[in-house]
Amino acid sequence: MIPITKPLLGPEEREAAARVIRSGWLAQGPEVARFERAVADYVGAPHAVAVSSGTAALHLGLLALGVGRGDEVVVPALGFIATANVVRHVGARPVFIDVDRATFNLCPERLAAAVGPRTRAILPVHQLGLACELDRVLEIAAGVSAAVVEDGACALGARYRGQRLGTAGDLTCFSFHPRKVVTTGEGGMITTSDPALAERLRALRSHGVTVTAEARHASTDVLPEPECELVGFNLRMTDIQAAVGVVQMERLPGIVGRRRELARRYGRLLAGSPVEPPAEPAHCEHAFQSYMVLLPPSATAEQRLQVMQRLLERGVTTRPSLMAIHLQPAHLPPDGSPPALPVTEELARRGLMLPLYPQLTEAEQDTVVGELLSAVGAVL
Ligand SMILES: *Cc1c(COP(=O)(O)O)cnc(C)c1O
Repeated sequence: MIPITKPLLGPEEREAAARVIRSGWLAQGPEVARFERAVADYVGAPHAVAVSSGTAALHLGLLALGVGRGDEVVVPALGFIATANVVRHVGARPVFIDVDRATFNLCPERLAAAVGPRTRAILPVHQLGLACELDRVLEIAAGVSAAVVEDGACALGARYRGQRLGTAGDLTCFSFHPRKVVTTGEGGMITTSDPALAERLRALRSHGVTVTAEARHASTDVLPEPECELVGFNLRMTDIQAAVGVVQMERLPGIVGRRRELARRYGRLLAGSPVEPPAEPAHCEHAFQSYMVLLPPSATAEQRLQVMQRLLERGVTTRPSLMAIHLQPAHLPPDGSPPALPVTEELARRGLMLPLYPQLTEAEQDTVVGELLSAVGAVL
């Protein structure tokens, strides 16, 4: 069976985790600090704050910026539901906009039309590892004094106009779930150039306390009572996770390079077929966290399921498209009628994720494409 993904984990990750266990301090500590430094240096941001997941990163990001009740946050409708959930968790309203058919990323023209006096933040997603049109997003945000929180959950290692993602917006959020480019099991990171925001994020992730538990544990002095200005959470990462993350960061250039190679090869194998490979604009370097193709325009959701079933029977795992979030019951407006967002709805129906991970062989890739084309031929 060819899985949809397979994290690249070796003996180095096992040894790193074992070293933390031998140290006797498993919670947030020196390994988290090392991992934060590694990610900050990699993306070129002055500050990085590690948290328990990509969702926690987005949630704390909005809180640290003061986004809350009465505010609107513009979100692309196509994507992963966590991006919209966090907006609701802080009491704000997600404003869903349509996406671009070629890049799957939010459409700048739709964004310009959706912002207004209530827009407190824009939450652009770098879809599946491809940068959105950041220059336009930043310009539109500046025009209405809105903050920009980049959802780069899938996009560690991607570039926009030569620059690695993680420094353009007020905050950039990354995820280390096993489906992502590098993994710590669960985990997230927020990068920023604003020291005050970084400080607030560190307090929010740990009960609003500014002195870390590790510093308190290690201190030989009598400690005063901590002072808490913010109502915080426990959304910390553990040192076991971070130690794995430090090793994964060393692997990152190789992982992204191999993913890009395999993606280019998929593109060549699919050229001229009824299945449309994803685009990569010339000014972007895709991290290819996922490889999403489009089935022919006439394909129904039912036909896609049939294609997926045939592939499964032939040993190939696939996944359906990104989700049309605005159609999910959890995000329907109070009157029950969602906006019509035709491109999002079309992509949610036609999209299909193919297996992509560094260990995928060319022979396996040939099997995936061969079986996919024969299933599409049989069903459509
Ligand atoms: C995975 C993902 C998230 C959530 O990250 P977790 O670490 O799973 O919480 C958010 N946004 C996007 C676009 C994602 O792909």
